Amino acid sequence: MRLLIMGAPGAGKGTQATALAEHYGVPAISTGDIFRFNIKNETSLGLKVKAIIDAGEYVPDDVTEEIVAARLEEPDCEPGFLLDGFPRTMHQVHFLDRYLSERGQGLDAVVSLHVDPEALVQRLLKRAELEGRADDNADTIRRRMEVYAGQTAPLLFHYENKGSLVDVDGTGTVDEVRERMFAAVDAHVAS
Ligand code: AMP
Repeated sequence: MRLLIMGAPGAGKGTQATALAEHYGVPAISTGDIFRFNIKNETSLGLKVKAIIDAGEYVPDDVTEEIVAARLEEPDCEPGFLLDGFPRTMHQVHFLDRYLSERGQGLDAVVSLHVDPEALVQRLLKRAELEGRADDNADTIRRRMEVYAGQTAPLLFHYENKGSLVDVDGTGTVDEVRERMFAAVDAHVAS
C-alpha cells in the first residue's frame, strides 16, 4: 500500500499518519520528523536546514528529494509506505511520479485532511505551548499557512485529476477523524 497524507499545518496530519500507517502495516515517513531529528543531532543536513525551517519556509527540493529517495530504498518500504509531508511542491510531485513509475509502482491513495484555517491557527498555538516547536510561533505559523496555500494546496488538483485523492474532514476529535479517514481510504482502495 503506497499512500500520501496532506494537510495544512495543524490539520493533524502527523497523528493521523501514524494511525493510517499502522492500519495498513507500512512505515510512516515524515520529512518534517527527519529534518527535526537532524537538527536536534546537529548533523550537516540539520545545520543546513535549521534556519529555513525556523522561518517557516520550505527546504530546497533537491535536498528533500534526495532524503526521500534514500528512505524509500530501505527494506521496510518494500510492502509500501505512507509519506507524511512529502510532496509539498510540484517539483516534488513530478519527482515522486517519476520515481514510482520507474519502478512500475503507483499511489493507492492521497489523503487530504482539511480543517477551517481559523481553527488551525488555534491548534498550532496550543501545540506551541505543549511541544515547544521552534516553528510554532504566531509569525511562523502565518508564514507556514501562506506557503502551504501557495505551494502545496495546488498539488491536490494534480492528485484529484489522477483519481487518487481522498478528501477527509479533519474536524472533530482525533478518534472521530481517524475512523472517518479509515472508512474513506478503505472505500477508495476497495473501489
Ligand atoms: P512538518 O512537520 O511536515 O510540518 O514539516 C516541518 C517543516 O519541515 C516544514 O515547515 C518545512 O520547513 C520542512 N519540510 C518538511 N517537509 C518538507 C518538504 N516536503 N519540502 C520542503 N520542506 C519540508
